[in-house]
Amino acid sequence: MSTEKPRILTGDTPTGVLHLGHYVGSLENRVHLQDEYDCYFIIANVHALTTRSDKTEEVRTDTLEITKDWLSVGMDPAKSTFFLQSEVPAIAELTWYFAMLLGYGRLMKNPTIKEEIRVKRLTDQYSFGFLMYAVGQIADILAFKPACVPVGEDQVPHIEMTREIARRFNQTYCGVKGGVADEDHVAKGGVFPVPEAKIGRIARLTGTDGTNKMSKSLGNAILLSDTAKQVQKKCNKIFTGRGSIDDPAPLEGNTVLEYLHIFHDDPDRAAQIQEDYARSKIGDGDLKKEVGQAINRFLDPIRDRRATITDDDAMDVLKTGTAKANKIAEATLYQAKQAMSYDFFPRNLSL
Ligand code: ATP
Ligand code: MG
Repeated sequence: MSTEKPRILTGDTPTGVLHLGHYVGSLENRVHLQDEYDCYFIIANVHALTTRSDKTEEVRTDTLEITKDWLSVGMDPAKSTFFLQSEVPAIAELTWYFAMLLGYGRLMKNPTIKEEIRVKRLTDQYSFGFLMYAVGQIADILAFKPACVPVGEDQVPHIEMTREIARRFNQTYCGVKGGVADEDHVAKGGVFPVPEAKIGRIARLTGTDGTNKMSKSLGNAILLSDTAKQVQKKCNKIFTGRGSIDDPAPLEGNTVLEYLHIFHDDPDRAAQIQEDYARSKIGDGDLKKEVGQAINRFLDPIRDRRATITDDDAMDVLKTGTAKANKIAEATLYQAKQAMSYDFFPRNLSL
């Protein structure tokens, strides 16, 4: 029996820095799974160009800032591999092969793609590369042959597409029969496992606009790197629908209450605060103050750790991890090419 740990692949796009939604949707899971799994964490800096092709210096800065976010929440490079997408060429090559197995119509039915076009107001002005990112993400994942992918709910359609392509590749090039169960694909000769999405404690954290998913690109995020003052200011601006203290606005859909229950360290106290609010014993101002303080208590240890991490630390971690990631991705690519009879000659790329 193999003693190797099962693998995980997940990561973030440097279209900004990380926020509370990332924490409860994915980062927390990553930290907990580090001992049980062999974890690969990608910074998808090529995909950041989908909306920031004219801002490559900002992408570079955010790449290092996200690495610091990771280190400050307790993702540990001694246990896990942190790497940079642009420096793993096998991913770009696999993207081409997978793109040939994915129908254009199928891609355009992906609800996350449709939603991104809508909320990021891309209309019909998005680049060809924007659509390619969805295929590229399949390559990011499958290059590492992971058992599972810890993500927020919005990523489930992408993982579903990844599963379809893994099956199609195995069936097209590896002789895996149509009816084979997903978990048996590798045992039956497939190059790729059919990986599962692992949803975080909170599948979708609402943004401070009270409507959309908290997102780096929409300006509705409380950042892990925000100061205490910035956090309180953002909380104060959240719309609750309550006019005055006596106004019985519905509790459902109140984003401040959502944050109260997710981030308050004492559930009994949180329940009491909600009750006082519901009975108009306290108003919006008090509620927002309690929630701002709760979020700040939660962020304080993250801030303390972050203050000790330098750009050089972040760069070192990425360099070491990327060298390791290249070995795995090159080996996967070679296996895929063997299956396709494209293994014309061996090669040995190194960074
Ligand atoms: P962008 O606005 O640029 O798309 P994002 O904020 O959506 O950025 P991503 O880099 O696309 O962040 O997502 C990284 C991971 O965090 C994914 O697994 C995603 O599902 C998860 N995630 C992002 N936002 C949330 C959220 N609000 N709630 C739960 N999980 C989230
Ligand atoms: Mg996103």
